[in-house]
Amino acid sequence: MAQRRSFAWMDLLWLAFLGGLAVLQPRLEVHKQLTLLAIGVFQILERRFLGWVPARGRNYSVILKILLASLLVDHTGGILSSYYLIYLVPVVTAAMFFDAWATMAWTVLTSAVYCSFVLWVLSEYEVTAEGATELAIRNLFFFLAAIVVNRFVTENRRQATRYRQLAEALAETNRRLEAAQEEARRSERLAALGQLSAGLAHELRNPLAVIKGSAETLMRKLAAADPITTEMAGYISSEVNRLNSIVTRFLDFARPLKLERRREQIPPLIERALKAARDRWPDAQVEVQRQFAAALPEISVDHELAEQVFTNLVLNAYEAMGPGGGKLRVAAAVAQSDGRRGVEITFEDTGPGVPAELRGQVFNPFFTTKESGVGLGLSIVSKIVDDHRGWIHLASEPGEGACFRVFLPEGEPPEAAL
Ligand code: ADP
Repeated sequence: MAQRRSFAWMDLLWLAFLGGLAVLQPRLEVHKQLTLLAIGVFQILERRFLGWVPARGRNYSVILKILLASLLVDHTGGILSSYYLIYLVPVVTAAMFFDAWATMAWTVLTSAVYCSFVLWVLSEYEVTAEGATELAIRNLFFFLAAIVVNRFVTENRRQATRYRQLAEALAETNRRLEAAQEEARRSERLAALGQLSAGLAHELRNPLAVIKGSAETLMRKLAAADPITTEMAGYISSEVNRLNSIVTRFLDFARPLKLERRREQIPPLIERALKAARDRWPDAQVEVQRQFAAALPEISVDHELAEQVFTNLVLNAYEAMGPGGGKLRVAAAVAQSDGRRGVEITFEDTGPGVPAELRGQVFNPFFTTKESGVGLGLSIVSKIVDDHRGWIHLASEPGEGACFRVFLPEGEPPEAAL
C-alpha cells in the first residue's frame, strides 16, 4: 500500500517537472507540450507496458523514449534546442535496464540521433570549431550520466542478490536447526524410554523364568493327564517364550550399543537386507529397483547393526506393500551433511505411506499400527543411526508410499568438531 502511494507521488513529480518544461519559454507551442505530455504519460505507464511486452519491452521502451526526445528537440530548435538534456531520459532508462555494454550501445545510438540534427542545418550554417566542441561536451555528458547510473544500478542489483542469497542461506540454516532440534528431542525421548524399559524388562525377566520353569514342570507332570490341561500348559509356555523374546528386544533396545566399526561398502549390506526380506516372503510380488552410485566411499559402520537398520527398513516396506506387492526403490549416493561426507541411502516403497499426523511418532518405541507389531523396529533403527552420528528422516507425501532417507557419515567426526 505504502509502496503504491510512493509511486503515485513519483508520478506526480514527473508530471510537475515535465509541466515546468512545457510552460517555460523560449518556445511555447502545442507540439512541444504534447510531446512532453506523451513522455510523462509513457513514463507513468512504463511499468504496465513492460508487463504487457515482457520479452522486448525494455528495448521498445528505450527506442520510444529516443523518438519522443527527438520529437521534442525537433520542435524546440533542433541542434540548438535547450531541451537536448531530454535525451538523458532514454540514456538513464537504458542504464537502469541493461548491463554496461548494452548501456554504452544505447547511449551511442542516442548520441548519434542527437548529432543527426546537425545534418538538417548543414546547408544553411557551417559547423564552427566552437559549435563542434559544444556538441562533443553535450554528448560526453550523456555518457557520463549513463556510466554513473549504470554503476549505481549494477551495485544495487548486486547488493540485492547478496541479500537474497543471505536470506536463503539463513532460511536453510533455520530449517536445519529445526531438524536438528527435532532429532535431539527424539534422541532424548529414546534415551529416557530406553532406561525405563531396561528397568522394566529386567524386573520382568525373573518372574518370567519362574513361570516358564513351572509351566514346563506342569507339562511334564500332566503329560498323561487330560489333553486340554496339557494344551493350556503349552500356551503358558509358548506365551512366556513370546514375552521373553519381547523382553530381550527391550533390553537390546535399551542397552548402550557397543559399535565395532570397520570401513565397509554399503551396497553389499543392503543386498543382504533385501535377501532377508526375499527369504521371509518368497512369494511377495516386489520389484526392487537399485540405484547405487558408482564409487561410493567406504563407511565406518558396525557391520551387523548397519545390516539390521537396512533389514528393518526393507521388512517394513515389504509389510507396508502387503501381499499385493509393489515397487521398492533403493538408492545409495554420496552426500554431504553439515560439512560431513557420507552416503545417503533411500528406501522408497509404493505402500500406503504414513499419514502426516503419525509421521512424528513412527520412531517412538512401541508405536505400531500393526496387529502383531511391537513398534520397536524403527526406534532401534533410529538409535543405531544416531550412534553412528547419522540421521534418518521419513518423507511421505499424501497418496504416496513411504520414503526413508538414512545418512551415514564416512567416519568419526574429528575430535575438534565434538
Ligand atoms: P512395527 O513394524 O513393529 O510396527 P516399527 O517401529 O518398525 O514397528 O514401525 C512403526 C510403524 O511405522 C509401523 O507400525 C507402521 O505404521 C509405520 N511404518 C514403518 N515403515 C513403514 C512403511 N514403509 N510404510 C508405511 N508405514 C510404515
